[in-house]
Amino acid sequence: MKVNQFQPYLGQEEYEGIKSCFDENWITEGPKSEQFCNRLLALMGARYGVFAPNGTLALYLGLKAVGIGPGDEVIVPDLTFIASANAVEMCGATPIFVDVNASDLQIKISDCHELVTPNTKAIMPVHLFGLAVNMDEVSEFAKEHNLKIIEDAAQAVGVNWSGKHCGTWGDVGCFSFFADKTITTGEGGFVTTDNEEVYNKLLFLRNQGRKSRGSFVHPHIGYNFRITDIQAAIGLTQLDKLDDIFSKKAHLLKRYKEQLLPSEDFKILEPDSKSNHIPFRVVLLTHKPALPLMDTLKANDIETRTIFYPLHTQPCYANSGDDSQFKNSMHAYEHGLCLPSYPALEDAQIDYVCQVIRDYYDKNSVSR
Ligand SMILES: *Cc1c(COP(=O)(O)O)cnc(C)c1O
Repeated sequence: MKVNQFQPYLGQEEYEGIKSCFDENWITEGPKSEQFCNRLLALMGARYGVFAPNGTLALYLGLKAVGIGPGDEVIVPDLTFIASANAVEMCGATPIFVDVNASDLQIKISDCHELVTPNTKAIMPVHLFGLAVNMDEVSEFAKEHNLKIIEDAAQAVGVNWSGKHCGTWGDVGCFSFFADKTITTGEGGFVTTDNEEVYNKLLFLRNQGRKSRGSFVHPHIGYNFRITDIQAAIGLTQLDKLDDIFSKKAHLLKRYKEQLLPSEDFKILEPDSKSNHIPFRVVLLTHKPALPLMDTLKANDIETRTIFYPLHTQPCYANSGDDSQFKNSMHAYEHGLCLPSYPALEDAQIDYVCQVIRDYYDKNSVSR
């Protein structure tokens, strides 16, 4: 049996959505995008939102709109997808890496204080793996040091901290609709804010420095970050299925837990009690290094992924700190693996993955 790491959850509904763009002869950003935007805002409880071509550019737009530029430093967790840091670079600013918590793998705020310099302008909490960052801690830290908050909520559609949606705590929240995210439009991104001034900056930045399309007077420098109504049509049908996606993700998490826990050889990543959990991936944290288990799963046609390669170890971010500053992030990289976690995953596939894991630990348990 072959089990992929991820498959987008697409069907006839998305196809019908795309078809309606052709029937109505409107493919650029227009009525469907407006509808998609309003439904996202209602879901998240945010006041304003704009689209971006992808999550990386949503982060870039968010950073620019709160005024991040050359010479500025932005605190970014060491354990995240590289786009979080690259968006900071793209603004001409410098990402400063910080370790993550051992328990929930989210940004470790207690380590952030000593990283603050006169150039520190912002912090970018990344809500990783469908768990929320402790936004009480982030808000307090940002207030103390007068920093902007740019939330990377690419993996956090439907995820809340203390009942408030991720991405609505900071100055801006940035989402991705790439194919493996909770909802997808193929490529796509979204920036939310409750601040009217920031919203206006976002509008200028994304649409050639003007607010409306028909005008050729450009008060500011801006660019083109628009999407298409074809993407919005897919997004609208994905939102129609959102409860179904959430319940399928909850089901697969429960089934993995029922069959695998308790174990003396690993745990499954758990959120803080103030966060819900919509598994972007179900993450196994093993006591012994995860690589031999990953090889065994691969030999059985089961696709896993490691957790992200820590950013301070990336060749492109050489000399940004040494391993001793990032113990938890290094440990997570060596001991973490992502199990197949897509909505259409069948029970028989989950059971097969669990069987292979149990068989592996029958021979390789820490107790043997
Ligand atoms: C996917 C992702 C991004 C980037 O989004 P793209 O749409 O792929 O550009 C940024 N941060 C995190 C944490 C992500 O998972």
